[in-house]
Amino acid sequence: MELNELYRDVILDHNRRPRNFGPLEAADASAEGFNPMCGDRLTLRLKLAGDRIEDIRFEGQGCAISTASASLMTEAVKGKTRAEALRLFGRVHGLLTDDAALGEDLGKLAALSGVREFPARVKCASLCWHTLSSALQLSAASTSPAVSTE
Ligand code: ZN
Repeated sequence: MELNELYRDVILDHNRRPRNFGPLEAADASAEGFNPMCGDRLTLRLKLAGDRIEDIRFEGQGCAISTASASLMTEAVKGKTRAEALRLFGRVHGLLTDDAALGEDLGKLAALSGVREFPARVKCASLCWHTLSSALQLSAASTSPAVSTE
């Protein structure tokens, strides 16, 4: 099977059966994302254990790329720390916009590299990541005053 076909199958599968889709009770952080270019809407809810994303779920309506991307993202960041999740965002952003970026070590997220052939859809794929980033920032801002141990 061609790599492109494999990637397309991952996107189709995650669009048809989105993982971690639905409400999340007692979420610690949430954010909403909207991509006016395409009409994709997304609500992201997170449960945090200290610095770690213990659980993450999403709701909303969007195109196949935005839904598949959000599904892949929730799988990828669950169990990760804030810093790890944001670093992954950087890698995915590179994958979406930089033809030279390689995603071999990104697992299923590498399927998103197919999107860079369609620049108009990059925002569809990155919407969930921008929304995650703002949810993490909002939750960091609302926690008790930072105590530095350094
Ligand atoms: Zn879209």
